Amino acid sequence: MAIFSEDNIQETRRRGRIEVICGSMFSGKTEELIRRLKRANFAKQKVEIFKPALDTRYSDEEVVSHDHNAIQSTPVDSSASILLFSSNIDVVGIDEAQFFDDGLVDICNQLADNGVRVIIAGLDMDFKRIPFGPIPALCAIADEVTKVHAICVKCGNLAYASHRITKSEKRVLLGEKDTYEPLCRRCFMKSLEEEEKI
Ligand SMILES: [Zn+2]
Repeated sequence: MAIFSEDNIQETRRRGRIEVICGSMFSGKTEELIRRLKRANFAKQKVEIFKPALDTRYSDEEVVSHDHNAIQSTPVDSSASILLFSSNIDVVGIDEAQFFDDGLVDICNQLADNGVRVIIAGLDMDFKRIPFGPIPALCAIADEVTKVHAICVKCGNLAYASHRITKSEKRVLLGEKDTYEPLCRRCFMKSLEEEEKI
């Protein structure tokens, strides 16, 4: 009995490409990254996962998503380190890519040009809805972009922005459900109006 259908083989064997998975907080970006990497792993591909060293929310050595579906990863200080650690790797996963330097764009292209499948997950916008770090450029050079969505906590429609509940103005503020809430455009605009009144 075949474990993989024809479609799955197509997916897991495709190489030398860049896939971007982006969206708001709680949209399932990391879960989708882990799903693709696990399938590549089942297909006997050599998989390596990197994340920026500053994302220390849960664990130093694992990419952990909000549903605690963890996978082992290597924290790196800069995008240049990804190239150093990627020799003989078939599939490179990059989580929280919005926190990397702009050099990541060139590095992903170099890897893909050399036959590596690169799968990138990251926030598309910061809490002010400004495109985040290297993500917009990565979307431009990608072979495939998947935009994933959380559910708006106010009305149940598809969310598209990460609304910050706390007062901090810092762009990088790591947090979970006590710091951010996913909102649709309408509820996001309503929250901004209410905050201005306060
Ligand atoms: Zn809404």
